[in-house]
Amino acid sequence: MNEYQTFVTHLECSYTGKVYPADKLHGLSDEDKPLLVRYDLEKISKSVTRDSLIMRAPEFWRYRELLPVRKSKNIVRLGEIMTPLLPANNLQHEWGSGEILIKDEGRLPTGSFKARGLALAVAMAKELGVKRMAMPTNGNAGAALAAYCSRAGIETFVFCPDDTPKVNVDEIAFLGAKTFLANGFINDCGRIVGEGKGQMNWFDTSTLKEPYRIEGKKTMGLELAEQLNWNVPDVIIYPTGGGTGLIGMWKAFNELEQIGWIGSKRPRMVAVQAEGCAPIVKAFKKGERHAEPWENAETIAAGIRVPAAVGDFLILDAVRESNGFAVAVSDEEITSAHKDCALKEGILLCPEGAATLAALKKELISGRIKSTEQVMLFNCATGLKYPMQTTHHKINLKESVNYDWIEESLS
Ligand SMILES: *Cc1c(COP(=O)(O)O)cnc(C)c1O
Repeated sequence: MNEYQTFVTHLECSYTGKVYPADKLHGLSDEDKPLLVRYDLEKISKSVTRDSLIMRAPEFWRYRELLPVRKSKNIVRLGEIMTPLLPANNLQHEWGSGEILIKDEGRLPTGSFKARGLALAVAMAKELGVKRMAMPTNGNAGAALAAYCSRAGIETFVFCPDDTPKVNVDEIAFLGAKTFLANGFINDCGRIVGEGKGQMNWFDTSTLKEPYRIEGKKTMGLELAEQLNWNVPDVIIYPTGGGTGLIGMWKAFNELEQIGWIGSKRPRMVAVQAEGCAPIVKAFKKGERHAEPWENAETIAAGIRVPAAVGDFLILDAVRESNGFAVAVSDEEITSAHKDCALKEGILLCPEGAATLAALKKELISGRIKSTEQVMLFNCATGLKYPMQTTHHKINLKESVNYDWIEESLS
C-alpha cells in the first residue's frame, strides 16, 4: 500500500491553546480539557486537491491527509462507507420546510457513527502501542470499540449502566469486550475507568478524553461538504450527547476553509437534547460557557443521555459562533417524529435521529428555522437496535382465512 504524506504538527489544549507533542500517547490536557490535533494546513493545501479525491475509495480514509494516522498498516477497516444523504421530500412538503437531508449514519460498521470516532481512536492506539483500552458507554461506542479492537488485537474493557438495552450489551460482549454492567449512569461508569486505569493499565477511551475520536467524527463534516459539492447546508441539527460530532464537524469546516476547499459560509449548528437530559440547552439559555451536570437524566434516546460533557464549552462555542441554538425535545415528540419518518419516508431512524427531526418540526413552527433553509439531520445509528411500537394481527391457520377481516383490520 502506498504511504500517504501526513501533516500533523502538534496537539493543542482546546481551552488554553497549550501545545503538546504529536506521536505520543495523550489523554486530557493538564487542565483536564480535550486535546485537539493540529495540522500543517498550508502544506496540505499545496499537496492535495479536491479533485485528487475522485480517484480514491468511497470511504472516510479518503481524507487521509486531514487525519492523524501516520502509517497505513495501522488503519483498521470494517467498511467505513460514505453514508448517504437521504432527502425527506414528503415531510418537507407537509411541513413547508426547506430541503431536508438525512445523513444516514446507521450504515456504518456496528450500525452507528461511533464507528468513525473509534476507527480513529483504535488506529492511533495501535500506532502508539496501546494494549488495553477501556470505556464507559451507553451502547454504541462500546460496540464500535469492541469491533475495532478485536480486529486490531487490542484487549477491551467496557462499562455500561445496567439499564443499557440488552441488544447493545450483547453486541459489545459478543464482539469480544470484557463487559460490565454497573448500577449507575454513564458518568459513574466513567469514574470506574478513570480510577482504575493506573492499576489496570487501561488507555481511557471515554468521549473526548483522548484526542482522536474527534478526528474520526470530523469526517462527517468533510464528507458532507464533499457530498454537497464543497458546500455546507444552512442548518445542521445534531443530537448532542458528548458533542464529539458537533465539535468535530465544526473543526472540519474550519480546516476545509483554511485549505481552500470550502468558503467562509458555515451552517448554523443546532444542538438537540432530550427534555429529560438537557444540560447544554440549559447553559445555552443562561448564556453560560459551561454546563452544570444534569440530575436524574432520563430519556428514551440513550445516546444523548449524557449528564455532563467534558467538551461543553466547545459545543456551546460552536453553537454560538455559528449563530445556531440549543433546543430540547420531549420523548413524546421523539416518538412521534420516529413514526412520521418511518411511515412517510420509509426511513427507520434511531431515537436520537428522530430527535433531530422533532427539533426541526418544532423550530419551523417557532420560526427559528426558516422555510428557505436547507437543513441536514443526522440519523446516528440503525433503527434496528431500538424498540419499535407496532400493531399486528394474528391469523389462526386452523380456520379459513377471513379476507374481510383482513381488509377491516387495516382501516
Ligand atoms: C453517541 C451517540 C449520540 C451522541 O453523539 P455525540 O457526538 O457524542 O454527541 C447520538 N446518538 C447516538 C445513537 C449515539 O450513539
